Amino acid sequence: MEKILEQLRLKGYKVTPQRRAVLQALNSFEYFPTAQELLAEVRKTNPDVSLDTIYRNLSMLTELGIVHEIHRTSGNVYELAKDGHHHHHLVCTKCGRTECIDICPVTDIYKEEAEKKGFTITGHMFEFYGLCSNCREKK
Ligand SMILES: [Zn+2]
Ligand SMILES: [Zn+2]
Ligand SMILES: [Zn+2]
Repeated sequence: MEKILEQLRLKGYKVTPQRRAVLQALNSFEYFPTAQELLAEVRKTNPDVSLDTIYRNLSMLTELGIVHEIHRTSGNVYELAKDGHHHHHLVCTKCGRTECIDICPVTDIYKEEAEKKGFTITGHMFEFYGLCSNCREKK
């Protein structure tokens, strides 16, 4: 936890009580929570926090690479990027189960294509969608 707060400081951001509360809440989940679930957790210690504030903090932390936002049709979930490590996710379209996958399939070809069009790529994100082992068996 302290390491994450340190990352924030190193990037030139103050560790405000709200940011700390959001990160602490995120750290307390065994699974990847939605913004709503985070709100409920943060409100235990900061009852005045709004969903808007949660989203604002999450988008700022996502931009800094401290939080990963994982897109799901049933609602996005958030992961604390403990080591700031870039990776992708497998998302079950049925139950929403989300697993980290430690490879990145993006190669320099994209960079070159983008540069032809005058773009400089600064980042990317995507998820792999499918069925988890549980949902596949239940079929
Ligand atoms: Zn599933
Ligand atoms: Zn992950
Ligand atoms: Zn990648």
